[in-house]
Amino acid sequence: MGVEEKLPAGFLLTTVEQVAGFMRKSSVWPATFGLACCAIEMMAVGTPDYDIARFGMERFSATPRQADLMIVAGRVSQKMAPVVRQVYDQMPEPKWVISMGVCASSGGMFNNYAIVQGVDHIIPVDVYLPGCPPRPQMLLNAIIELHRQIQTSKLGVNRVKAARAAEEAALSA
Ligand code: SF4
Repeated sequence: MGVEEKLPAGFLLTTVEQVAGFMRKSSVWPATFGLACCAIEMMAVGTPDYDIARFGMERFSATPRQADLMIVAGRVSQKMAPVVRQVYDQMPEPKWVISMGVCASSGGMFNNYAIVQGVDHIIPVDVYLPGCPPRPQMLLNAIIELHRQIQTSKLGVNRVKAARAAEEAALSA
């Protein structure tokens, strides 16, 4: 007989990891910045129509040191790339990234020397959101997907270090 069957009905059974995941996903604070036209749609999720406050995310943080989500909203120019990386580096772990729109994810229609052909050349991305621009509902859907990832992620795993280790292992193989 499993432990669950021995407990009285209504007894809450969970793990520290699940509680931590629930708390983390319920208090994600995005960094305040936008890069291009996609940022207008990102701003719309703060309005009562889309109401990002229902996820506890209405507090867009003015300092990266108090943010744990970067929404890359718009194309990333070569000139902005070091700035985006610096903002990302200033955010404390654990942190997550949504690449919003086709320009941020792949350069989109801007297939030229001035635009980074995908922000994942600079920082790791958790959720890619297609569209030009994605509608606010699509961004909310990406946020729900990110919440699912946060809820099921392992505690104490530094994704950046793990990705670097995997890269080094692949290079040395
Ligand atoms: Fe602008 Fe479209 Fe590129 Fe978004 S995907 S930054 S809306 S051109």
